[in-house]
Amino acid sequence: MKYAPNPERYQKMVYNKCGNSGLKLPAISLGLWHNFGDDKPHQVKQEICRTAFDLGITHFDLANNYGPPPGSAEVAFGKILKEDFAGYRDELIISSKAGYLMWPGPYGEWGSKKYLIASCDQSLKRMGLDYVDIFYSHRFDPNTPLEETMQALDQIVRSGKALYAGISSYNSKRTKEAVAILNELGTPCLIHQPSYSMLNRWVEDDGLLDTLENEGIGSIVFSPLAQGMLTDKYLKEIPSNSRANQDKSLNPKFLSEENLGKIKALNEIAQQRGQTLAQMAIAWVLKNGRVTTALIGASKAEQVIDCVGAIENLSFTEEELAAIDRYATD
Ligand code: NDP
Repeated sequence: MKYAPNPERYQKMVYNKCGNSGLKLPAISLGLWHNFGDDKPHQVKQEICRTAFDLGITHFDLANNYGPPPGSAEVAFGKILKEDFAGYRDELIISSKAGYLMWPGPYGEWGSKKYLIASCDQSLKRMGLDYVDIFYSHRFDPNTPLEETMQALDQIVRSGKALYAGISSYNSKRTKEAVAILNELGTPCLIHQPSYSMLNRWVEDDGLLDTLENEGIGSIVFSPLAQGMLTDKYLKEIPSNSRANQDKSLNPKFLSEENLGKIKALNEIAQQRGQTLAQMAIAWVLKNGRVTTALIGASKAEQVIDCVGAIENLSFTEEELAAIDRYATD
């Protein structure tokens, strides 16, 4: 059936300013790393994206290599864009990235200009787009001068293939260097995409969040649910339809007795707040305004609905934060 977006889609979602830029991003964004490959039915992908958009999620995050096979998530999203969102391109923020292995040979990964420019062109073709809103260097490349990687981002923006430039998983030191180069080139860094969750707090220890705040750069934090561990999914067992059972990216070893103990304790705090654990995990990364948007993934539409419920309660008391700190450790 033809899709008609929910006319009330902008009424509940919170939109946060992305650093010092003029761009606002929804407090919750949807990533297509998992569940959008050729191994999953199109209808489920479509339902996830429709549900997200209906709830005010305007930002969809992709990368060249999302699948499996690599590239297939962009193809699937291109189909959804054409079928459902064709008339809504100006209401969407679509991102892609290059950095990880995409094709064989010396030009198919890392941070050379040769790779980034070619990969951006390929991503646009797969999605059927003239431009993406944000294009990222997916990871720092120790063997390419940072100037070259940043020049590639600058060129991608200047040629109209992306509106904004971003970097992902760069540490605080490399971020400062990249930001200085981009400023000099006249294409400021819009956003940084690091991992961050109650079970993964490296961005606090490394000083990255301070750096982003000082530089006026937005942040979109990936895996805020620790790939599903910070939900009620694993409280009793490892379900057969879960990432821990199906995919090696969530190693079942992470679900150790120690971690499960923390997750159960955090779940109790969430219940006392009248939230699900997923909702509290999202609210927690957004708690002090330093994070622009929490970048979630979902294997079904119901998970998106649950996660968006986080915006009903985004504030924490000092006591709640202290209680969470007892268990929210790496
Ligand atoms: P999350 O931490 O949000 O994990 C998503 C998984 O959690 C889902 O697939 C699902 O697991 C489970 N889940 C989600 N909501 C619920 C719910 N309400 N109740 C129960 N379980 C739930 O994020 P991801 O690890 O998926 O990463 C999100 C996005 O971040 C990616 O799609 C990608 O865009 C980006 N990313 C970027 C990286 C980078 O290097 N820049 C690296 C990794 C991710 P299940 O599938 O088992 O049902």
